[in-house]
Amino acid sequence: MEFEVINKNKDELVFMVNGADIAFVNAIRRICMMEVPTIAIDDVNLVKNDSAMFNEVLAHRLGLLPIASDIKSIEGLVMPDECDCGEYCPQCSVPMTLNKKGPCVVYSKDLESLDQKIKPVYDTIPLLKLKEDEEVCLEAYAQLGIGKEHAKWQPTIVCAYKFYPELTFGDECTSCGNCAGACPRGVLQYNNNKVEIMDLTNCSMCKSCYRACDDRVINISFDDSKFIFKIETDGSIPPEEVLLKACDVLSDKADKIIEIV
Ligand code: SF4
Ligand code: SF4
Ligand SMILES: [Zn+2]
Repeated sequence: MEFEVINKNKDELVFMVNGADIAFVNAIRRICMMEVPTIAIDDVNLVKNDSAMFNEVLAHRLGLLPIASDIKSIEGLVMPDECDCGEYCPQCSVPMTLNKKGPCVVYSKDLESLDQKIKPVYDTIPLLKLKEDEEVCLEAYAQLGIGKEHAKWQPTIVCAYKFYPELTFGDECTSCGNCAGACPRGVLQYNNNKVEIMDLTNCSMCKSCYRACDDRVINISFDDSKFIFKIETDGSIPPEEVLLKACDVLSDKADKIIEIV
């Protein structure tokens, strides 16, 4: 199996996999979304909430905040069901507090965490608005969890793959350039009286080029063992960590099956 990184930045990873089958690639996709643990606020004790926002809505908003969950940050933290404390302890949870008095907009940065590594990834997510003399005072507990339990623990915003496109021109091609003019993604460009393929990975296989070709001499197909995979996260965990962790989870599952058989 070949693997090649096409594009990578802090929150996004695009790579090519060659020589895999669709079941394997889809298993990795599902595990990336559903079984890679991240941290999210799971319990909120509201001491005071004078704002117009209902307690439940505020708790829901807090639950959806992306919280730093990379390997270094969560080191030493265990899943709640692996902890025998029965409630909240430093091994399985991170306490956070929020105390603000209006008038002001309360932002994610106002949430104070007991663990400096485990805190909201972004400072400027608005949580609620307080008018003159209104107050909010709460205590929250963040815990590890997986997307299968609740969407707030999903690390990925985009996690998808597509077949690797294949584009060929028949011998009858007259280099008229119509296909390049019809391509909405700039994959084909007409330069010096000939059509050039610029970035095949950007092709969505929409077939606009095929429809623009009077003689239908451009062929669009795909290689069913070659994929372009994209992972974009909410910032709580780097995409390469999501992929590596998903591979570990899949490998553990395979080991378990072998053991059972
Ligand atoms: S439209 Fe058809 S004939 Fe014209 S350049 Fe494209 S493939 Fe060739
Ligand atoms: S299939 Fe669509 S995206 Fe791909 S080259 Fe043709 S027009 Fe462009
Ligand atoms: Zn515990």
